[in-house]
Amino acid sequence: MKVLVANLGSTSFKFRLFDMDGERVIARGAVERIGSKQSRSSIQTDRGRHEVERPVRDHAEAVSTCLDLLTGPEIGVLSDTGDLAAIGFKAVHADGLTGVHRVDDEVLARMEAFNDVAPAHNPPYVRAMRLLGQRLPEIPLVAAFETAFHETIAPAQRLYAVPRQWAEYGIRRWGFHGASHRYLAERMANLLDRPDLKLVTCHLGGSSSLCAIRHGQSVANSLGMSPQTGLPHNNRVGDFDPFAIRVVMRRSGKSFDEVLDQLATGSGLLGLSGVSNDVRDLERAAAEGNSAAQQAIDVLVASIRHYLGAYLLLLNGADAIVFSGGIGENSPTIRAAVCAELDWFGIEIDSRRNAEATGEATIHGPRSRVALWVVPTNEELIVARQVKELLERERKTKTAQRGEG
Ligand code: ADP
Repeated sequence: MKVLVANLGSTSFKFRLFDMDGERVIARGAVERIGSKQSRSSIQTDRGRHEVERPVRDHAEAVSTCLDLLTGPEIGVLSDTGDLAAIGFKAVHADGLTGVHRVDDEVLARMEAFNDVAPAHNPPYVRAMRLLGQRLPEIPLVAAFETAFHETIAPAQRLYAVPRQWAEYGIRRWGFHGASHRYLAERMANLLDRPDLKLVTCHLGGSSSLCAIRHGQSVANSLGMSPQTGLPHNNRVGDFDPFAIRVVMRRSGKSFDEVLDQLATGSGLLGLSGVSNDVRDLERAAAEGNSAAQQAIDVLVASIRHYLGAYLLLLNGADAIVFSGGIGENSPTIRAAVCAELDWFGIEIDSRRNAEATGEATIHGPRSRVALWVVPTNEELIVARQVKELLERERKTKTAQRGEG
């Protein structure tokens, strides 16, 4: 069974093509600068790298371009589009819906209803899914929601202290990055050969979250009602007091929507530093003496430690703390700052191991009671597995119905 997993940004489409017999990635690639004349598509397979530069109008055309290449004579990892069992999407948020679903009008409507809750994520997904459904109706589309892994979170960690009836509107901490935290939980159970682990997983990237995991199940996640909450993100605010909004409106003359837009696109590391939304740039600027860049890093680290402390308490200690995501996998400086002076908790980072870590690695010192790991995430694999499970379930149901009929 071959499954294409799509990861959409506002102007990009990244994908991995899995052969689920053996869970092998047979192609990976990206279409970048969608909507511009300089769109570039690239595909990597065992047989090498292939690049095409031609305008790609929208996300549906990006997927079509990628399918043309995958079925074409030069790459040919798919015999034709019928060879593809489904396209899976790491979908973010929908009104009153979580789990794994075939994309249909109802799923799209529910996602669209939360366009303003996940403004960076939902609109490109809905647009792409709708266009694909129209242009390639023969390929099943499956949405695997990022919130699904967090359905095990108990009310005490899930509820905001707001009027009870707001729960009917879906106002609660949903939690996101489910595919990544689920992957890290499963991978750690394999690496340590134990299913009963207590973990704090730190997915630190363009958007970031911490998750407390007990026996493979999510018990808390730092992301709340929307992907703008929790830790500060690349350009999204993180935790914030809603009563500050009126003050900003009064003082700046901005409308409510303009302030929300600034919180969702001009805040986080970018807003605080005034330098960049990328930790690599911030680390460089901070090393050159830019104090605002250093402060943005310090605020991120303080927020990670805030949730880390809370989750160590919630779990009554942890077997391991796991770093992942673009920042977690690549920034020894941030990992060191997060783990600094935690010896009272039995947490001790080894500076040499931390500096030299590549791929999957332990970075704790010999006296550390808590293992410290760097584990590259693999969200796409989780989505591919979820798609496969759904298709197999559907097939079984159909067979059973035929048997009854
Ligand atoms: P996304 O959340 O968009 O999927 P990633 O998990 O790939 O993003 O993380 C991207 C972020 O990782 C970048 O914005 C940058 O801040 C950070 N990053 C990537 N490489 C490094 C590095 N070598 N050092 C520090 N930070 C890095």
